[in-house]
Amino acid sequence: MSKHPGEFELIARFFTRAPSRAVLGVGDDAALLAPTPGMQCAVTADMLVEGRHFFAGTDPEALGHKALAVNLSDLAAMGARPTALLLALALPESDSDWLAAFSRGLFALAEARDVELVGGDTTRGPRTISITAIGEVPPGQALRRDAARAGDAVWVSGSPGDARLALGHLRGEWRLPEFDSALRARLERPTPRVALGLALRGVANAAIDVSDGLLGDLGHVLRASGVGAELQVDAIPTSAALAAQPTLRRRTCQLAGGDDYELLFTAPQSAHGAVLRAAAAAATPVARIGSITAAAGLRLLDATGNAWPDADVDALGGFDHFRSR
Ligand code: ADP
Ligand code: MG
Repeated sequence: MSKHPGEFELIARFFTRAPSRAVLGVGDDAALLAPTPGMQCAVTADMLVEGRHFFAGTDPEALGHKALAVNLSDLAAMGARPTALLLALALPESDSDWLAAFSRGLFALAEARDVELVGGDTTRGPRTISITAIGEVPPGQALRRDAARAGDAVWVSGSPGDARLALGHLRGEWRLPEFDSALRARLERPTPRVALGLALRGVANAAIDVSDGLLGDLGHVLRASGVGAELQVDAIPTSAALAAQPTLRRRTCQLAGGDDYELLFTAPQSAHGAVLRAAAAAATPVARIGSITAAAGLRLLDATGNAWPDADVDALGGFDHFRSR
């Protein structure tokens, strides 16, 4: 077995498994899937580029996990059940150690979530991982960004901000004496909230996954739905790592950090109990952090009910690849 396998040996060794649900998997010109009759198909793609989304030298096993996790997170935010994925991979060189670790991380998550790799593309180039994930959702039950309604409560899963805290440490923006593998994992091994997304079908109105920062992503929901929101900043769950940080850093991480892959969703006030039952069924913590208003705009309130200045809110507006650093 070669240390530098060619394209087809590489695909056969690292990315070919017997299909379970698919009619035809890796190896032909296209895969054949057998969709469940009556279901809608949810399709999404997300790309990770070296130097942009991950540091050169990142643990390839973690990268395999994360490349899939960010796509499963998008399906979760639609309330879709993942079924299949395609992997487009550009690599500067064929390195069997890197490939073995990468595929181990990818397949571990794929098997845990019962989603199968059915095809892809492999080429030489700057290290780039692009996954297309496919899922299913009953017609009319997808959790869309344009479905928030005035009076809805705003909820978030987990505790956002740790990924940004870890990134700041690795980039040298700040130094955390207590930086450890658990905090690194919050950046490199996010947990896609698939079970929660499924449990929220028929309960939540709108949903989005927090990939570019809580405020920015909430802003997408507000614009799509034609509504505004009031956010109780102090109601956002705070991890122990963030609780130990200075207030400005903590809030910047929680409100404008990216890479959380938590679900941000809205649900009618009357669904409060149903949301808590969905969260319990999915074994995923959720917290109510605000409400949707008929008036446009986003207002941030602290624990004393004081509003933040608009300029501060705008400054925390989220990540844009063509505008932010
Ligand atoms: P084609 O030239 O017809 O596009 P390829 O030679 O690119 O086919 O790929 C051969 C087979 O391997 C196809 O079934 C394709 O879907 C699959 N494949 C290629 N790269 C990957 C990959 N990284 N992961 C999974 N399947 C792959
Ligand atoms: Mg091809």
